[in-house]
Amino acid sequence: MSTQPGDAFATRCVHAGVTLDSDVAAVNPAIQLSTTFVQPDVAQPLRFDYSRAGNPTREALENAVADLEGGVTGHAFSSGLAAMNTVLQLLSSGDHVVCAEDAYGGSIRLLRTVAAQAGVETTFVDTRDVDAVQAALKPETKLVLLETPTNPLLRVSDIRAVSDVAHDGGALMVVDNTFMTPALQNPLALGADIAFHSATKYLGGHSDVLAGVLATNDEELGARLTYLQLAVGAVLPPFDSYLLMRGLKTLHLRMERHSQNAEVLAHRLVDKLGAENVYYPGLAGHDGHDVHKAQARSGGGMLSFRLPDAQAARELVTKTRVFQLAESLGAVESLIQVPAAMTHASVPKAMREKTGLTDGLVRVSVGVEDVEDQWSDLARAF
Ligand SMILES: *Cc1c(COP(=O)(O)O)cnc(C)c1O
Repeated sequence: MSTQPGDAFATRCVHAGVTLDSDVAAVNPAIQLSTTFVQPDVAQPLRFDYSRAGNPTREALENAVADLEGGVTGHAFSSGLAAMNTVLQLLSSGDHVVCAEDAYGGSIRLLRTVAAQAGVETTFVDTRDVDAVQAALKPETKLVLLETPTNPLLRVSDIRAVSDVAHDGGALMVVDNTFMTPALQNPLALGADIAFHSATKYLGGHSDVLAGVLATNDEELGARLTYLQLAVGAVLPPFDSYLLMRGLKTLHLRMERHSQNAEVLAHRLVDKLGAENVYYPGLAGHDGHDVHKAQARSGGGMLSFRLPDAQAARELVTKTRVFQLAESLGAVESLIQVPAAMTHASVPKAMREKTGLTDGLVRVSVGVEDVEDQWSDLARAF
C-alpha cells in the first residue's frame, strides 16, 4: 500500500515510499544493488539508467522522506554533512550565508573552511534573536541555516519568524530538523524551503546507518538537488537506504517514548540539580519553551544538565551503565557524553563559555529503555 493525503503520521511512517509495483508484490522495497539498467533503445532508459542518478531502493526512501516531512521531493545522501555540502553547492562564490552560531559543529566547520575556500562567506548569529538574523542579511545572502532546538543547550528559535525574514531578504531557509524529526516538528509547514536531517540519528534510530536526507516543497529546488546528486555523487547506497526505511517505520513510536522518558528524567533532574542547571525544551521554565511548544509537539529525547566542573562530569559519565559513554544521539539506546571535551571540543573555549557550554555540562540522548532503569542508573552514578 502507499499513503493517501489524509493518512495520519503513524500510518505514513509505516507505509510511506512503499509501492507494490514489483512482480512479486513485496511489502518492502527490494535492495536493488544493480548500478546500471538496460535500456530498450539508445538513450531511452525505462525508469533508471545509473544508480548515482537514481536507484529504486533510494527512491523509495526519498519518497518516504518527502511524505513524512510534507514535501514534494526527498533526497538521500551518504551522511548528514554530505547532504549539507550538497545544499551548499546551490551557492556560488560571492554568495553569503547566515548560520545559527550554535549549529552542529560539523556544519559550522564545513561553512568556515570548505565553503569559505570556495568563496562563500558566513555570518554566525544567535538565531533566537530575529532582529540579529535580519541585521546579518546582505544583498548577497542566499541561504539562512537554522537549528532548533540546538545542541547541546537546546536553544529554541522561531522557525516561522526566521523564515519570513530570510524570504524577505531573498534567501533560502534551511532548517536542521535532526533533533525533532517530522514526528515532532515540520519545518516546511512553518516556512522552511528545505528540511535537513542527519538521518544517522533519530530517522535511522539504531546507530547502524550513516545518512543525510533533505526534503523540499518546491519542485524546482528539488530538481536542482537531483541534479547535484548526479553531479556531486554523495548519494546513499541501496543497503543503507533500506536500513533507513526500516528505521522510519517505527519513528512515531520511538519519538513518543524518547520524549516521554526525557520529560520524566528532566523533571527529576530539576529536583536534584535545580531548574537553572537543566536544559530541556519540554520544561515550562526552559528559555524558549513557549516558542517550542507552538512549533513542536513535544520536547524530544535530548537533554543536558550542568555539573560544577569537568571532574564531576567525568565521574558521572564513567559510572553509568544504561547510559553508555559515546558521541552521537537519537538511537534506541541511551547515550551520555561531555560536550566540552567530546563533541564540542573543537569549539574555542571562549566561545563555549559565552554560550554556556561549560566544562561540567553533560548531554544525554535518552533512549527507549525503561525510564525507571534509566533514572536509577543516573541516580546511582550521582
Ligand atoms: C550529526 C549531526 C549532523 C551531521 O550529520 P552526519 O550524519 O554525522 O554527517 C548535522 N546536524 C546535527 C544536528 C547532527 O546531530
